[in-house]
Amino acid sequence: MNAFVHGDLQVEPGTIGRGTLGEVRLPAGRRIELPLIVVHGVAEGPMLAVTAAVHGNEVVGIGAALTLVRTLDPGELRGTVIVVPAVNLPAVEAASYLSPVDSMNMAGPIYWDAPAGGSTSQRLGALVGSVLERADYYIDLHGNLEPSSPMSMMFLENARDEDVRKATVDLAAAFGVTPVDMSNPEAHPAWLGPPDVYPTATALARGIPALMVELVHARTMDDAPRGCRGLLSVLHSLDMVDSGTDVSTDPTLLPGTHRYWGALESEVAGLLWIRHPAGEPFEEGALLAEITDVFGDVQQQLHSPVAGFCWWYPGTSYGMATHAIPAGSTVALIARSTEVGR
Ligand SMILES: [Zn+2]
Repeated sequence: MNAFVHGDLQVEPGTIGRGTLGEVRLPAGRRIELPLIVVHGVAEGPMLAVTAAVHGNEVVGIGAALTLVRTLDPGELRGTVIVVPAVNLPAVEAASYLSPVDSMNMAGPIYWDAPAGGSTSQRLGALVGSVLERADYYIDLHGNLEPSSPMSMMFLENARDEDVRKATVDLAAAFGVTPVDMSNPEAHPAWLGPPDVYPTATALARGIPALMVELVHARTMDDAPRGCRGLLSVLHSLDMVDSGTDVSTDPTLLPGTHRYWGALESEVAGLLWIRHPAGEPFEEGALLAEITDVFGDVQQQLHSPVAGFCWWYPGTSYGMATHAIPAGSTVALIARSTEVGR
């Protein structure tokens, strides 16, 4: 078993190393160093990369990744866990979704084959990409605001081949929250832009099984234990750790299989009232939400055109504001129930 070496960082077997992936300069000259944590095991095994805070205000993923590092014993680990806990570091510091430096969404095509130059986010992406391209498996931790339920996103249409596709389905099953196949949504094919720019989708195209996880209570550490349990369960499924008591199915897991359908949008402005809880299955035609004016009179009722579940009621600006919404807001992100064993 050799030491793990990346740039200036060298981590001996059975130890945890901390370092940086490199640095980027901000406009006033301050250098930001991108943290890297490596849990290097004592026996040969896969290399799992974990990233968090690609969206800077989704700090729950940072909590989940750091809880995993605290939990893992490198003396019992087979293989290596690489953690980049704060990918969009400028956005983490600014408590913002996008980079405050260049307004870029770092869930974009900036990790692989990234140019060494480019904007601040592109430079950070290139640093992260240098470890992602070494990974055998990849998990990208995100979080949604309430009301939401935990889920994972599988960009299966991007998979390079059937083996990568199957390994991604296995990753999702191991993580334990309800997986949703994000391929070819019926209602809104362009939701949040083409999915093949997402880091995990890009990984799938490059032959690396990868999963994007949406935890809940994104701005707090409340849901970090669930994220850690999921990661531990993945490590167990990859035979990187021995079975432990922390390996369990998440209580929110829904039976059957699910595929992203699209988003319900508001036709009117007003106050958004949720009539069906996130994460609870519904039948076609179910009333999910109502929008009232400020007098309380219902202006629009939103029914689901398909059977399935809603994993998040974002409201204004993907939930970064409130449920007092302008017309055209994304009200409900819906996964459709599909045949078991599709
Ligand atoms: Zn996110």
